[in-house]
Amino acid sequence: AGKAVPTGRYAPSPTGALHLGNIRTALLAWLHSRALGGRHLLRFEDLDTGRVRPWAYDVTRCDLEWLGLDWDAEYLQSERLELYAEALAQLDTYPCTCTRREIQVAIQDSAGAPHGREPVYPGTCRRTPADPTRPAALRWQIPDWTVCVTDALSAEQLCQHLPQEVGDLVLRRSDGVFAYHLAVVVDDADMGVTDVVRGADLWPATPRQAALSDALGLAHPRSWHVPLMTDYQGERLAKRGGAPPLRDLREGGADPGRVLAELARSLGWQVPDAVQAAELLPLWREWAGVTEQPL
Ligand code: GLU
Ligand code: ZN
Repeated sequence: AGKAVPTGRYAPSPTGALHLGNIRTALLAWLHSRALGGRHLLRFEDLDTGRVRPWAYDVTRCDLEWLGLDWDAEYLQSERLELYAEALAQLDTYPCTCTRREIQVAIQDSAGAPHGREPVYPGTCRRTPADPTRPAALRWQIPDWTVCVTDALSAEQLCQHLPQEVGDLVLRRSDGVFAYHLAVVVDDADMGVTDVVRGADLWPATPRQAALSDALGLAHPRSWHVPLMTDYQGERLAKRGGAPPLRDLREGGADPGRVLAELARSLGWQVPDAVQAAELLPLWREWAGVTEQPL
Protein backbone atom coordinates (compact mmCIF):
# COMPACT_ATOMS: atom_id res chain seq x y z
CA ALA A 1 0.00 0.00 0.00
CA GLY A 2 1.18 3.54 -0.77
CA LYS A 3 1.91 5.87 2.06
CA ALA A 4 -1.03 8.08 3.04
CA VAL A 5 -0.66 11.81 2.51
CA PRO A 6 -0.31 13.36 5.98
CA THR A 7 -3.62 15.04 6.65
CA GLY A 8 -4.75 17.10 9.60
CA ARG A 9 -7.85 19.05 10.40
CA TYR A 10 -9.33 21.73 12.56
CA ALA A 11 -12.88 20.89 13.58
CA PRO A 12 -14.67 23.79 15.27
CA SER A 13 -18.30 23.78 16.30
CA PRO A 14 -19.92 26.94 14.87
CA THR A 15 -21.67 27.74 18.13
CA GLY A 16 -20.02 31.11 18.70
CA ALA A 17 -16.95 33.18 17.91
CA LEU A 18 -13.52 31.60 18.46
CA HIS A 19 -11.68 32.74 21.56
CA LEU A 20 -7.92 32.72 22.04
CA GLY A 21 -7.96 29.18 23.41
CA ASN A 22 -9.81 27.87 20.36
CA ILE A 23 -7.49 29.71 18.04
CA ARG A 24 -4.38 28.38 19.74
CA THR A 25 -5.60 24.86 19.10
CA ALA A 26 -6.38 25.88 15.51
CA LEU A 27 -2.85 27.24 15.15
CA LEU A 28 -1.26 24.05 16.49
CA ALA A 29 -3.40 21.87 14.23
CA TRP A 30 -2.37 23.98 11.23
CA LEU A 31 1.31 23.93 12.22
CA HIS A 32 1.18 20.17 12.52
CA SER A 33 -0.36 19.59 9.09
CA ARG A 34 2.07 22.00 7.46
CA ALA A 35 5.07 20.68 9.41
CA LEU A 36 4.35 17.28 7.90
CA GLY A 37 4.06 18.84 4.46
CA GLY A 38 0.49 17.59 4.47
CA ARG A 39 -3.06 18.65 3.74
CA HIS A 40 -5.08 20.67 6.21
CA LEU A 41 -8.87 20.51 6.39
CA LEU A 42 -11.50 22.71 8.00
CA ARG A 43 -14.50 20.77 9.26
CA PHE A 44 -17.48 22.48 10.82
CA GLU A 45 -19.03 20.23 13.45
CA ASP A 46 -22.53 21.56 13.11
CA LEU A 47 -24.74 18.56 13.82
CA ASP A 48 -26.33 20.02 16.93
CA THR A 49 -28.43 22.51 14.98
CA GLY A 50 -30.00 23.99 18.11
CA ARG A 51 -26.59 25.27 19.21
CA VAL A 52 -25.33 26.43 15.80
CA ARG A 53 -25.12 30.17 15.19
CA PRO A 54 -25.33 30.76 11.43
CA TRP A 55 -22.96 33.75 11.59
CA ALA A 56 -20.25 31.68 13.28
CA TYR A 57 -19.11 29.96 10.06
CA ASP A 58 -17.94 33.17 8.45
CA VAL A 59 -16.48 34.61 11.61
CA THR A 60 -14.43 31.41 12.00
CA ARG A 61 -13.22 31.51 8.38
CA CYS A 62 -12.26 35.18 8.69
CA ASP A 63 -10.44 34.60 11.98
CA LEU A 64 -8.39 31.75 10.49
CA GLU A 65 -7.60 33.69 7.32
CA TRP A 66 -6.60 36.73 9.32
CA LEU A 67 -3.90 34.70 11.08
CA GLY A 68 -2.82 33.01 7.85
CA LEU A 69 -4.11 29.56 8.82
CA ASP A 70 -5.23 28.33 5.42
CA TRP A 71 -6.98 25.08 4.55
CA ASP A 72 -7.18 22.85 1.50
CA ALA A 73 -10.79 21.71 1.78
CA GLU A 74 -13.82 22.56 3.87
CA TYR A 75 -16.62 20.27 5.09
CA LEU A 76 -19.89 20.69 6.96
CA GLN A 77 -21.04 17.73 8.99
CA SER A 78 -24.64 18.83 8.46
CA GLU A 79 -24.18 17.93 4.78
CA ARG A 80 -22.91 14.44 5.50
CA LEU A 81 -25.80 12.85 7.38
CA GLU A 82 -26.09 9.88 5.00
CA LEU A 83 -22.58 8.76 5.87
CA TYR A 84 -23.38 8.75 9.58
CA ALA A 85 -26.64 6.89 8.98
CA GLU A 86 -24.77 4.22 6.99
CA ALA A 87 -22.21 3.78 9.74
CA LEU A 88 -24.89 3.60 12.39
CA ALA A 89 -26.67 0.84 10.46
CA GLN A 90 -23.53 -1.32 10.71
CA LEU A 91 -23.47 -1.20 14.49
CA ASP A 92 -25.40 -3.14 17.05
CA THR A 93 -27.81 -0.54 18.47
CA TYR A 94 -31.10 -0.50 20.40
CA PRO A 95 -33.70 2.18 21.08
CA CYS A 96 -33.65 3.93 24.45
CA THR A 97 -36.37 6.19 25.79
CA CYS A 98 -34.88 6.83 29.22
CA THR A 99 -34.84 10.38 30.46
CA ARG A 100 -31.84 11.78 32.30
CA ARG A 101 -33.85 11.51 35.51
CA GLU A 102 -34.75 7.86 34.92
CA ILE A 103 -31.10 7.04 34.29
CA GLN A 104 -30.06 8.74 37.52
CA VAL A 105 -32.61 6.77 39.50
CA ALA A 106 -31.59 3.49 37.85
CA ILE A 107 -27.93 4.11 38.68
CA GLN A 108 -28.74 4.85 42.31
CA ASP A 109 -30.91 1.75 42.53
CA SER A 110 -28.18 -0.52 41.19
CA ALA A 111 -24.53 -0.34 42.18
CA GLY A 112 -24.63 3.32 43.19
CA ALA A 113 -23.12 6.12 41.18
CA PRO A 114 -19.42 5.71 40.43
CA HIS A 115 -17.38 8.42 42.11
CA GLY A 116 -15.85 11.21 40.12
CA ARG A 117 -16.82 9.74 36.77
CA GLU A 118 -19.51 10.53 34.29
CA PRO A 119 -22.51 8.31 34.95
CA VAL A 120 -22.53 5.10 32.95
CA TYR A 121 -25.86 4.16 31.41
CA PRO A 122 -27.02 1.03 33.25
CA GLY A 123 -28.40 -0.68 30.14
CA THR A 124 -32.08 -0.48 31.14
CA CYS A 125 -33.48 -0.60 27.60
CA ARG A 126 -31.01 -3.29 26.56
CA ARG A 127 -32.80 -5.67 28.93
CA THR A 128 -36.35 -4.30 28.73
CA PRO A 129 -37.37 -3.04 25.29
CA ALA A 130 -38.18 0.66 25.20
CA ASP A 131 -41.74 1.99 25.04
CA PRO A 132 -42.35 2.29 21.27
CA THR A 133 -44.70 5.27 21.71
CA ARG A 134 -41.97 7.50 23.14
CA PRO A 135 -39.28 9.15 20.99
CA ALA A 136 -36.17 7.00 21.22
CA ALA A 137 -32.45 7.59 21.08
CA LEU A 138 -30.26 4.86 19.58
CA ARG A 139 -27.61 3.41 21.84
CA TRP A 140 -24.64 1.35 20.77
CA GLN A 141 -24.46 -1.97 22.56
CA ILE A 142 -20.85 -1.39 23.50
CA PRO A 143 -18.51 -4.37 23.12
CA ASP A 144 -16.85 -5.92 26.15
CA TRP A 145 -13.41 -4.57 25.29
CA THR A 146 -10.66 -2.82 27.13
CA VAL A 147 -9.35 -0.21 24.74
CA CYS A 148 -5.97 1.46 25.14
CA VAL A 149 -4.82 4.54 23.27
CA THR A 150 -1.47 6.33 23.28
CA ASP A 151 -1.10 10.03 22.71
CA ALA A 152 1.59 10.91 20.19
CA LEU A 153 2.46 14.17 21.92
CA SER A 154 2.69 13.12 25.57
CA ALA A 155 3.28 9.36 25.01
CA GLU A 156 0.67 8.89 27.75
CA GLN A 157 -1.40 5.72 27.57
CA LEU A 158 -5.05 5.53 28.54
CA CYS A 159 -6.97 2.26 28.89
CA GLN A 160 -10.71 2.05 29.47
CA HIS A 161 -12.90 -0.97 30.04
CA LEU A 162 -15.83 0.05 27.86
CA PRO A 163 -18.78 -1.50 29.72
CA GLN A 164 -17.61 -0.20 33.09
CA GLU A 165 -16.17 3.15 32.16
CA VAL A 166 -18.13 4.24 29.09
CA GLY A 167 -21.34 2.24 28.80
CA ASP A 168 -23.78 2.05 25.90
CA LEU A 169 -23.29 5.32 24.05
CA VAL A 170 -26.06 7.34 22.44
CA LEU A 171 -25.16 7.49 18.75
CA ARG A 172 -28.35 9.20 17.60
CA ARG A 173 -30.41 11.35 19.92
CA SER A 174 -34.18 11.08 20.06
CA ASP A 175 -34.42 14.31 18.05
CA GLY A 176 -32.43 12.61 15.27
CA VAL A 177 -29.10 14.37 15.89
CA PHE A 178 -26.10 12.07 15.36
CA ALA A 179 -23.57 11.92 18.17
CA TYR A 180 -20.30 13.75 17.84
CA HIS A 181 -18.30 10.55 18.52
CA LEU A 182 -19.84 8.78 15.55
CA ALA A 183 -19.42 11.71 13.17
CA VAL A 184 -15.81 12.35 14.14
CA VAL A 185 -14.77 8.75 13.58
CA VAL A 186 -16.59 8.43 10.27
CA ASP A 187 -15.26 11.76 9.03
CA ASP A 188 -11.64 11.31 10.05
CA ALA A 189 -11.56 8.00 8.18
CA ASP A 190 -13.51 9.26 5.15
CA MET A 191 -11.38 12.41 4.84
CA GLY A 192 -8.11 10.49 5.14
CA VAL A 193 -7.12 12.25 8.36
CA THR A 194 -3.85 10.76 9.61
CA ASP A 195 -3.17 13.18 12.46
CA VAL A 196 -5.64 14.68 14.91
CA VAL A 197 -4.43 17.71 16.86
CA ARG A 198 -7.08 18.81 19.34
CA GLY A 199 -7.66 20.03 22.87
CA ALA A 200 -6.76 17.84 25.83
CA ASP A 201 -10.42 17.92 26.94
CA LEU A 202 -11.09 15.25 24.31
CA TRP A 203 -8.39 12.86 25.49
CA PRO A 204 -10.77 10.86 27.78
CA ALA A 205 -13.09 10.36 24.78
CA THR A 206 -10.33 8.90 22.64
CA PRO A 207 -10.75 5.23 23.70
CA ARG A 208 -14.47 5.19 22.84
CA GLN A 209 -13.70 6.80 19.49
CA ALA A 210 -11.02 4.19 18.83
CA ALA A 211 -13.55 1.49 19.73
CA LEU A 212 -16.08 2.92 17.31
CA SER A 213 -13.57 3.01 14.49
CA ASP A 214 -12.54 -0.59 15.27
CA ALA A 215 -16.16 -1.71 15.25
CA LEU A 216 -16.64 0.01 11.88
CA GLY A 217 -13.41 -1.41 10.49
CA LEU A 218 -11.91 2.05 10.00
CA ALA A 219 -8.33 3.27 10.42
CA HIS A 220 -7.33 5.25 13.51
CA PRO A 221 -5.54 8.55 13.12
CA ARG A 222 -2.66 9.36 15.45
CA SER A 223 -3.71 11.88 18.07
CA TRP A 224 -1.88 14.81 19.59
CA HIS A 225 -3.76 16.33 22.52
CA VAL A 226 -2.60 19.86 23.24
CA PRO A 227 -3.09 21.73 26.51
CA LEU A 228 -6.08 24.03 26.76
CA MET A 229 -5.44 27.69 27.35
CA THR A 230 -6.35 28.89 30.82
CA ASP A 231 -6.90 32.29 32.38
CA TYR A 232 -4.86 33.64 35.28
CA GLN A 233 -7.00 31.66 37.72
CA GLY A 234 -6.19 28.46 35.87
CA GLU A 235 -9.73 28.11 34.51
CA ARG A 236 -9.95 27.00 30.90
CA LEU A 237 -11.24 29.60 28.50
CA ALA A 238 -14.78 28.93 27.31
CA LYS A 239 -17.09 30.54 24.80
CA ARG A 240 -19.75 30.58 27.44
CA GLY A 241 -17.46 31.84 30.19
CA GLY A 242 -17.06 35.16 28.42
CA ALA A 243 -13.56 34.58 26.98
CA PRO A 244 -12.85 37.46 24.60
CA PRO A 245 -13.48 36.52 20.97
CA LEU A 246 -10.66 36.83 18.46
CA ARG A 247 -13.08 38.73 16.24
CA ASP A 248 -12.92 41.71 18.61
CA LEU A 249 -9.14 41.90 18.18
CA ARG A 250 -9.45 41.54 14.41
CA GLU A 251 -12.17 44.14 14.04
CA GLY A 252 -10.43 46.38 16.56
CA GLY A 253 -7.42 46.66 14.26
CA ALA A 254 -4.96 44.44 16.16
CA ASP A 255 -1.85 43.19 14.39
CA PRO A 256 -2.31 39.46 13.60
CA GLY A 257 1.45 38.90 13.88
CA ARG A 258 1.37 40.09 17.46
CA VAL A 259 -1.56 37.84 18.28
CA LEU A 260 0.39 34.89 16.85
CA ALA A 261 3.44 35.92 18.87
CA GLU A 262 1.37 36.00 22.07
CA LEU A 263 -0.13 32.61 21.36
CA ALA A 264 3.36 31.20 20.77
CA ARG A 265 4.68 32.75 23.98
CA SER A 266 1.82 31.24 25.93
CA LEU A 267 3.39 27.88 25.01
CA GLY A 268 6.77 29.01 26.28
CA TRP A 269 8.19 29.60 22.82
CA GLN A 270 10.70 32.41 22.35
CA VAL A 271 9.54 34.63 19.50
CA PRO A 272 9.95 38.22 18.33
CA ASP A 273 7.14 40.74 18.82
CA ALA A 274 5.30 39.83 15.65
CA VAL A 275 5.51 36.68 13.55
CA GLN A 276 3.89 34.97 10.60
CA ALA A 277 2.30 31.61 11.26
CA ALA A 278 4.82 29.81 9.02
CA GLU A 279 7.71 31.15 11.11
CA LEU A 280 6.46 29.03 14.00
CA LEU A 281 6.90 25.75 12.11
CA PRO A 282 10.37 24.95 13.50
CA LEU A 283 9.17 25.71 17.03
CA TRP A 284 6.24 23.31 16.68
CA ARG A 285 8.53 20.61 15.25
CA GLU A 286 10.79 20.93 18.23
CA TRP A 287 7.97 21.21 20.81
CA ALA A 288 6.02 18.27 19.50
CA GLY A 289 8.98 16.18 18.36
CA VAL A 290 7.65 16.15 14.81
CA THR A 291 10.03 15.25 12.06
CA GLU A 292 9.27 16.24 8.53
CA GLN A 293 7.97 13.45 6.35
CA PRO A 294 8.60 14.30 2.73
CA LEU A 295 5.61 13.53 0.48
N1 GLU B 1 -15.72 19.94 17.53
C1 GLU B 1 -14.90 19.66 18.65
C2 GLU B 1 -14.72 20.91 19.47
O1 GLU B 1 -14.98 21.99 19.00
C3 GLU B 1 -13.53 19.16 18.27
C4 GLU B 1 -13.58 17.76 17.83
C5 GLU B 1 -12.24 17.14 17.48
O2 GLU B 1 -11.27 17.86 17.23
O3 GLU B 1 -12.19 15.91 17.43
O4 GLU B 1 -14.36 20.83 20.62
ZN1 ZN C 1 -33.07 3.48 28.11
